[in-house]
Amino acid sequence: MYDAIVIGAGPAGLQAALTLGRMHRSTLLLDSGEYRNGTVQHMHNVIANDGTPPAEFRATARTQLAAYHDVEIRTATVEGIAGVEGDFVVTLLGGASASARNIILATGVVDDLPEIDGLSALWGRKVFACPFCDGHEHADRPIAVIGGAARAQHLIAMLGRIVSEITVIPVDERFTADEVSALEARGVRVSGSPAIAVSADDAGVVVRTADAEYAAAGIFMAAGSMRQRAPFAQQLGLGMLESGAIEIDDFGRTTEPGVYAAGDLAHRAAMPGPMAAVMMAATAGQLAAVGVIQSLLTAGH
Ligand SMILES: Cc1cc2nc3c(=O)[nH]c(=O)nc-3n(C[C@H](O)[C@H](O)[C@H](O)COP(=O)(O)OP(=O)(O)OC[C@H]3O[C@@H](n4cnc5c(N)ncnc54)[C@H](O)[C@@H]3O)c2cc1C
Repeated sequence: MYDAIVIGAGPAGLQAALTLGRMHRSTLLLDSGEYRNGTVQHMHNVIANDGTPPAEFRATARTQLAAYHDVEIRTATVEGIAGVEGDFVVTLLGGASASARNIILATGVVDDLPEIDGLSALWGRKVFACPFCDGHEHADRPIAVIGGAARAQHLIAMLGRIVSEITVIPVDERFTADEVSALEARGVRVSGSPAIAVSADDAGVVVRTADAEYAAAGIFMAAGSMRQRAPFAQQLGLGMLESGAIEIDDFGRTTEPGVYAAGDLAHRAAMPGPMAAVMMAATAGQLAAVGVIQSLLTAGH
């Protein structure tokens, strides 16, 4: 019986395990090896790690966790979670199981991109979504924004002051005349027809439409969506928010006693959506671990 099983070893789960380990709480950290930023070569906006490859960040975290004897790390895919606070059973692919008093879900999300030839292969390398994470690397260079007009406006507002030029290209359908005028009023170029293919070379990317080709240093997506990577929120009947994320309180508690959530998959109702970033995920992991420790102490463990 572990004090906690942490499912997921991205920044949220790794930090949760570190906090639990430092407080000598027996912890099992399970990782199926599918990270949201798995294709990213350099992460940014992470203090003291600006530009660090995410794989190196995770490897350093694991090396440091090895010093904590109460933390056990296993490569495993969790298939199911059953039980109640104080006595959860986690079932792994292959049939093994493990028990814990508390569960921390840190299983992250999956990004679903529009079906444009060549796009998904460049995700995280030449195709991005987050201005905070990848905007500065495109400073004074031209970018393409692919997506809907409303979301494009939001990206233009943030990236317009960083990049040299923005071309906005729709997905599936042409923009309406009103959308074109509103976009052009922001000083950007607008493609008349939707993106059908994307390719990359050393210089950058080329976005092809039915009647033109647009060269840019990189692409920012104003289209696509996120969904829970793992089925546990549904399996456990957790309260969900309109954003599709798990509802948590300040200490990562979900609506199910003993089940905590941290990282991109969850946020507090006061926030409009998950603050999807490495530092935010790690902070949430630490808060959830503190929540677990508080509850263990209250229960006399
Ligand atoms: C293209 C791109 C670029 C980004 N760049 C930046 C950046 O520069 N800076 C920044 O701060 N943020 C960046 N982000 C956001 C950042 O990657 C996420 O906010 C962060 O990874 C979230 O951490 P997490 O721990 O919640 O989830 P993840 O890092 O996605 O980790 C999820 C974990 O859960 C595990 N898991 C899932 N299901 C199971 C299961 N059934 N069994 C066992 N384990 C399971 C996975 O294996 C993984 O270990 C970027 C995101 C993308 C998509």
